[in-house]
Amino acid sequence: MKFAERMSHLGTETAFEVLARARALEAQGREIVHLEIGEPDFDTPDNIKEAAVKALRGGYTHYGPSAGLPELREEIAAYISRHRGVAVDPAQVVVTPGGKPVIFFSALALLDPGDEVIYPNPGFPIYESMIDYIGARGVPIPLLEKNKFAFDPDQIESLITKKTRLVVINSPQNPTGGVLPRETIARLCELAVKHDFYVLSDEIYSRMIYDGEHVTPYSYPGMPERTIILDGHSKTYAMTGWRLGYGVFPKEMAVKVAKLQTNSNSCTCSFTQMAGVEALRGPQDSVDTMVAEFRARRDLIVDGLNGIPGFSCHKPSGAFYVFPNIKGTGKTSKQMEDHLMNKAGVAVLAGTAFGQYGEGYIRLSYANSQANIKKAIACIKQSL
Ligand code: PLP
Repeated sequence: MKFAERMSHLGTETAFEVLARARALEAQGREIVHLEIGEPDFDTPDNIKEAAVKALRGGYTHYGPSAGLPELREEIAAYISRHRGVAVDPAQVVVTPGGKPVIFFSALALLDPGDEVIYPNPGFPIYESMIDYIGARGVPIPLLEKNKFAFDPDQIESLITKKTRLVVINSPQNPTGGVLPRETIARLCELAVKHDFYVLSDEIYSRMIYDGEHVTPYSYPGMPERTIILDGHSKTYAMTGWRLGYGVFPKEMAVKVAKLQTNSNSCTCSFTQMAGVEALRGPQDSVDTMVAEFRARRDLIVDGLNGIPGFSCHKPSGAFYVFPNIKGTGKTSKQMEDHLMNKAGVAVLAGTAFGQYGEGYIRLSYANSQANIKKAIACIKQSL
């Protein structure tokens, strides 16, 4: 078949491919510890499931408005205002099937071919994929271990040109767990106002912070009109399969993004949205319990990895990933991914799945039990 030229620019998320390889080995009887996939291993809390059942029985089985149900848009605006200490109007909110479409819709709404987009590398691979697909020019900003995987604002400044239209940031970050300090965000916002570009702030891990604080660029002067906040229920409420996320946009842009949704998904699933209202409005102790457990696992996995010859692992401040340096083993990232899958029975991702600056690192998700993390560490040690 002949496909459109743009399809050759579409990237992917290798986590799903590694998961498929792991499943194939399991089908042959091998035991694999899964540290590749980026989703909480906790179940969605019962109050949220009950709200979905009630909504299904109550008739939320039809199309809803493209921008999202008014109940949920209002709840999201209140939640973001409460958590970030900023003012958000429900008219700025568009509810989407997961957080991911916010990246695609923002790229479609803002970028013309030739526009430049600065994005983190290593970083969530969908940013680069969408930038390339649209025909914009991606300008990677390296995130270095020596800077605790935060970027250097001076470096951003050196990459800005007249064509810079958008800067993508992600804090806490996938794959490094890095958290951007307040001063870095403040400096980025000054640059955004001065050079008139937009900031897509991917805050999907904002509740998963172990040290420091979550700071949104939206809170700085001149920024509400040039910031897009991406957030959602997938990670915070262990709802990856429900497909529920949202963007907070400048008002004019929210109208355009809702129109993109009319043209693609029509709307996000109605009863899922009602469950989303309960998630934000209801008790939050399940989030606290999950984050406390992630913190214990982070400490366990970092200590374990630092005990493996050739590995050195920085302790991340957020999300549920570690990104150890494996240069001392003499293996490349990809060789290590294959070795660990085949010889240790541990599924991880090569750092290069997140861009060229991921060479020399691997990503492990610690969204797995402490028992499995201990087992993985022992198997890795033995296999090397
Ligand atoms: N942004 C980042 C940084 C992520 O890691 C992910 C999921 O892995 C997403 C966005 C997308 O989340 P969702 O599953 O809600 O589409």
